[in-house]
Amino acid sequence: VLVHICCSVDSHFFLEELQKKYPDEKLIGYFYDPNIHPYSEYKLRLLDVQRSCKKLNIELLVGEYDFDEWYKLTQHLYNEKEKSTRCKICFDKRLQVSMKKASEIGESKVTTTLLVSPLKSQQQLIQSAKDLSNEYNVEFVFEDFRSFGGTNLQSSVSKEEKLYRQDYCGCMFGLINQRKEQNIFLDEFISSINKQILSASVDERLEFYQKRLDLEEQNIEYVIRKEKFLNYRLFNFKMFVDKEQSLHVYPLIYSTLKRKKTKGKIELIAGDIGYFNREEIKFITIEYFNKLTCSDFKDTLELSQNPIKYQEEIKLREVISTASYDLSPIIVVDQFHDGKIEIELDSLVYEDTKEILLYM
Ligand code: SF4
Repeated sequence: VLVHICCSVDSHFFLEELQKKYPDEKLIGYFYDPNIHPYSEYKLRLLDVQRSCKKLNIELLVGEYDFDEWYKLTQHLYNEKEKSTRCKICFDKRLQVSMKKASEIGESKVTTTLLVSPLKSQQQLIQSAKDLSNEYNVEFVFEDFRSFGGTNLQSSVSKEEKLYRQDYCGCMFGLINQRKEQNIFLDEFISSINKQILSASVDERLEFYQKRLDLEEQNIEYVIRKEKFLNYRLFNFKMFVDKEQSLHVYPLIYSTLKRKKTKGKIELIAGDIGYFNREEIKFITIEYFNKLTCSDFKDTLELSQNPIKYQEEIKLREVISTASYDLSPIIVVDQFHDGKIEIELDSLVYEDTKEILLYM
């Protein structure tokens, strides 16, 4: 049986149940999910499916991430809710490619782990499969492992197995609507323009789950817990000196400006810090930045292109600021300017949660 796989939370339990029910069947996993957005989330779910299949000793094939194709089919239905026509089209696409794959490799049966997801319509899945199985001459295996307490059992298995438990179905449309309903900031759509990995971003989660694999390889015991914290995202930053835009500047994270714009000048330089005459803004030179972080950046342009780690920036802010939870802008410059300075800064500080690893 070729088993189309959507994510580890659904597949681990579903595959275990299939192994119990059909001990003599050879199961082949097929991860084909071009609906998943952003791409780093796709890589994260794939990473966890690879770990799960390895544990269950199941061969895994990986389909193409043909997102553009999937997007063309569904984009006009962006505003629809889950279990709508958009989801039916999404199932059609994933099952069609899975059935095609099954015929190519000589498998006569196909099923999907989507059947066990409590948020999916089994009727829609059966309908999609019925329409396609004749076309590809492949039998669809329907299994309902979610009834009679199956969903609760699945939830326990996912906790026990420390699976990556995503909190949205997968596509950008579902995610946008869900975050709107939850009134939660959609930070999955924001990434830095340089290589810095943002706190609690999908990229950071990908690193986190990769690290988890490394621990397992080294037989180090761990548990995954969550903690609440204040997160930060920068949307826009510009600085003008005597009306000329200065590219050689770098705002440290957690820099905020209430009205998003201000004008003024550096009125005081005390020690290595320049103090602006408005909005509690501080300036430090790249030289001082290098000294505090033991770095060797030629200038702030080089720093912007290869920033230090997010956590290191937080530590630096703590060294420069005297107040805890200081949100004043701290701007790294190549040298202090004595002209008229205009600053545009648009950012957000918001409550968030992230997973942490505890070693046993
Ligand atoms: S909500 Fe889920 S099933 Fe529906 S279109 Fe998006 S990814 Fe597909």
